[in-house]
Amino acid sequence: MPLLSRARVYVCGITPYSVTHLGHAATFVWLDTAVRVLRHEGLDVEVCRNVTDVDDVLTEAASRAGTPYDELAAMEQFSFDRAMSALGVLRPAHEPRAHAYVAPVVRLCATLLSSGHAYERAGTVYFRGASVVADSGLDEHARRAALRDNGENPDDAAKEHPGDVPVWRASSGDEPSWASPWGAGRPGWHSECAAMAVSVLGASVDLHGGGADLTFPHHAYECAIAEAATGVRPFARAWMRVGLVHHDGEKMAKSTGNLVLVPDLLLEHDAAAVRLMLLDRPWAQPWTYRPDMLDTASALVENLYAAAGQPGTSAGRDAVAAALRDNLDVPAAVATALEAGGPAARFALHVLGLDAAHR
Ligand SMILES: [Zn+2]
Repeated sequence: MPLLSRARVYVCGITPYSVTHLGHAATFVWLDTAVRVLRHEGLDVEVCRNVTDVDDVLTEAASRAGTPYDELAAMEQFSFDRAMSALGVLRPAHEPRAHAYVAPVVRLCATLLSSGHAYERAGTVYFRGASVVADSGLDEHARRAALRDNGENPDDAAKEHPGDVPVWRASSGDEPSWASPWGAGRPGWHSECAAMAVSVLGASVDLHGGGADLTFPHHAYECAIAEAATGVRPFARAWMRVGLVHHDGEKMAKSTGNLVLVPDLLLEHDAAAVRLMLLDRPWAQPWTYRPDMLDTASALVENLYAAAGQPGTSAGRDAVAAALRDNLDVPAAVATALEAGGPAARFALHVLGLDAAHR
């Protein structure tokens, strides 16, 4: 039973440089479902999901496409919003964009510098991350690989410790840049999220979400940066890191080239079936996508609607709610709804957002 009457939820959003794939959709559909369930439990839930529209991967994609980075971001954002709306993901109350939060990042860096949590070298401000890597539980090899995969350079000679990360990066050439006390530069990814979360929701959040691949380094540093700057611990009371989607033997990612794009799936399948395919499993567990899963999910949605037309009893509705309170056990909730029918099935369709997805 929740202790509080309200919940502040921060979700790490997209970097708008490529079309929405199933991995993105899984994260945002699960967080949306958690929010819907919390609201049904009577909580007043405030959601903030950022847009990382200042990021080196976006800058590189824009320069390859010969498009200004902010135009590419706006186009990809539009496509993302369409996909989320089709899948029944509710619009968050706050959608801060990184480019509008540069001043808070500058203030954050100044605070970290004055408290000794950061130092400056040639226009770049580094956050001291020795304790973050020590707490990560990863061995040296895995840690370095994770840092490198996320655009960090563990071998940057300017750093005092390999675990230090830039919270403000000096910009040169045609990289996006803003004025700062340390010269022209741009925010680092982890400090962007820390600054947006703290600016919008306050020094701590009740639930923090994102894909499981963000655990280290992104969430670990975002959390350490926010705690160092505000002095409030824990920054996040609970984490919901959604299990990764695999395809063709690897994690679904732009860099792997094994993407299953949501707009393509929606051409041939009901959005409700796509949504239920994502939800019909334990939320933290990684899984491998197969096209026949959509047929199974599609049949399940049809069965739920058929069950919703049965008389049923209100006891079934309570059993569906109880299953969802138990760590969002969607498979149990759906099985209960199908068996009980009537109000239970109608409630399941509604609380899982299946009736909000385009059919
Ligand atoms: Zn983030």
